[in-house]
Amino acid sequence: MKEAPGIVSGTRRLLRRLRDTMAGSGTAQERLDRIVRIVAAELVAEVCSAYIMRAGEVLELFATQGLRPEAIHRTRLRVGEGLVGLIAATARPLALNDAQAHSGFAYRPETGEEIYHSFMGVPILRGGRVLGVLVIQNRTSRHYDEDEIEVLQTIAMIVAELAAGGELVSPREIAESRTAGMLPVRLVGIRLNPGLAIGPAVLHEPPLQIRQVVSEDVPAEIERLREAVAAMRDAIDQLVLDSRGLGAGEHRDILETYRMFAADRGWVSRIADAVRGGLTAEAAVQKIRDETSRRMLQASDPYLRERLVDLEDLANRLQRHLSKHIPDVTFNELPPEFILVARTLGPAELMDYSHRRIAGLVLEEGSPTAHVAIVARALEIPVVGRVENATDRIEAGDIVIVDGEHAQILIRPSEDIRQSTTAAIEARTRRRAFHESLSSAPAITRDGIGIRLMLNAGLLIDMAQLASTGAEGVGLFRTELPLMVRDSFPAVDDQTEFYRRVFEYAGERPVVFRTLDIGGDKILPYLPHIVEENPAMGWRAIRIGLDRPAMLREQLRALIRAAEGRHLRVKFPMVAELPEFERARALLNMELARANDEGRMLPASVEVGVMLEVPALLWQLSELCERVDFLSVGTNDLMQFLFACDRGNPRLADRYDPLSAPVLRLLREVVAQANASSVPLSMCGDMAANPLEAMVLIALGFRTLSTPGAAIGPLKAMIRSLDLGALADYVNEISARPDHSLKSKFEAYARDHLIAL
Ligand code: PEP
Ligand code: MG
Repeated sequence: MKEAPGIVSGTRRLLRRLRDTMAGSGTAQERLDRIVRIVAAELVAEVCSAYIMRAGEVLELFATQGLRPEAIHRTRLRVGEGLVGLIAATARPLALNDAQAHSGFAYRPETGEEIYHSFMGVPILRGGRVLGVLVIQNRTSRHYDEDEIEVLQTIAMIVAELAAGGELVSPREIAESRTAGMLPVRLVGIRLNPGLAIGPAVLHEPPLQIRQVVSEDVPAEIERLREAVAAMRDAIDQLVLDSRGLGAGEHRDILETYRMFAADRGWVSRIADAVRGGLTAEAAVQKIRDETSRRMLQASDPYLRERLVDLEDLANRLQRHLSKHIPDVTFNELPPEFILVARTLGPAELMDYSHRRIAGLVLEEGSPTAHVAIVARALEIPVVGRVENATDRIEAGDIVIVDGEHAQILIRPSEDIRQSTTAAIEARTRRRAFHESLSSAPAITRDGIGIRLMLNAGLLIDMAQLASTGAEGVGLFRTELPLMVRDSFPAVDDQTEFYRRVFEYAGERPVVFRTLDIGGDKILPYLPHIVEENPAMGWRAIRIGLDRPAMLREQLRALIRAAEGRHLRVKFPMVAELPEFERARALLNMELARANDEGRMLPASVEVGVMLEVPALLWQLSELCERVDFLSVGTNDLMQFLFACDRGNPRLADRYDPLSAPVLRLLREVVAQANASSVPLSMCGDMAANPLEAMVLIALGFRTLSTPGAAIGPLKAMIRSLDLGALADYVNEISARPDHSLKSKFEAYARDHLIAL
């Protein structure tokens, strides 16, 4: 935002007065008393009060101009209580022209504040932590505008210096209140990358101490900023060069985009404006960074959030260049292997650490398509995201276990848990080596039945697993995933290029592309988002594709162009009735005809299939089999619709078991129909990824399973230890039993028959 010249010069005078106060004599309390007086006078407010955070998340009135003096050190509000508590809880400013009408208003008689109507408060922030709240109040119903909020925020940065100095509230008081946190703790988040790791915690760059907020010499500060920006850009160029060693994939595009951000003039000019307003370069970066984090808290749009994370990453980096606190030097002091803990982390920041050994990563935010998660995937680092308050609850040096599989972390685990985790990691490493050794071994049962193991993929980085696992091809390419990490819907040429790269990675191996399964919870930030009561059963996948055929046609056009001379395999998601399949197929035919008319090289062959994931389709199977080239069962959706049980609801996660009579009967029926019509059948739902469940699927007659790469080795080990004939008899014998689950019976069978699970 551009500041009006009047405000800039007014702010400068105010900042100078505050700087003199900060540098002047007296205790911290006396300086704070002076600051609230100056602010009240300069901002023409009857009240200015500073509330400082004490142990136990309590905000205490430390200084006031305008409220009754006897309230000082008496008035206390818990975080979340009253307007002051609300600002602390949300870490966001609040401006009201009638404070008492706000539902959060908490009246404290000792303050005498009932005569003041308008209220503006901002958090006193330091390194993302709320250290207090700064408030001004007026008797009249005053409207505080954006510029005034900004000015108060700048003042709050100066007060933050005082609050962080340890003189107002001793750091011991805060530390002791946290000792309850020294006990072992388990925190749950979401899985961003699987794997298990243990190590001492390193908190991602404890915030740098800004020594000086107000600058003495504006031109000199601008020059320092210019030099630091230039040095930072050089370092980022180097980092992007280094990342080439990681091979191809989305992480490369992400880092290139990041580099473009660093070259963006708008961001630097906003920082320069703040320097011109009287701040030091460090404080100006901090100010813009705080604004970014605030916007980040508000942004629900995943793409925008990623951009904001990138901007935060850049601000941190620029701070380090300004303070000459360059990572390579400071990182030398890190332990050789550690768990990195951060609120958010940009992809480039993760790369900074990659010369060291990050064993695991814990984030307070993050989503599976967050850029940092994708880069972590390329680096094979286990990640748990959305762990609330992780940076508060973990102290540097605490031993932390990151359990990516179960989306949890353990802080300061007991000695026996540490030992068992270390043993589990060693066992995993051995198992992984064993599974990798099977990558070129065939997936054949002991009685000679071959099983095709295919890969579920969605990003280019997943394609590397074709070689490492020995998968026979890609059984499910989820085409919506690359779109979820982009900023706009790609043009046909871009899509064509992307699919071409997928084909190139696959070489001779087949790839089955699934057309877009967007809608529901898979939101593309750049398309209009419709709020639905039941998104999983809403306007998604093929329903959107048929109602807005332009998008589906463009995708099919790109697939046809990319396939030139190769075998094209396409399947449609969420088909519920035959006519939907026929209409989708007709669109594909139209695109084939168009490619032909344009004289393009056509695919060598085209096979078209459907995902079996809506139960209604089960009763249209024989007609469907006459029309499709193949069928893929998607148990993730099929189970949720069959049992009326939301697949994303953790409370229902283990409610029903696929290893039970209704599912086994249904799948047996599907196998029989497909076999009777000679239609190739595969399973690409997650049921196929679990060795025990896959064992039963094979016994039911499935011969093609498509799973995430990590499952292929364990599946191969299971298949190679299996005598299918004997198992099929057993499955026949027990699968009609009306038990809640037959899992324990199958487990016992596997144990007795030495099947490797
Ligand atoms: C399924 O539903 O089983 C499936 C494979 O599709 P997705 O998980 O992408 O919905
Ligand atoms: Mg599905």
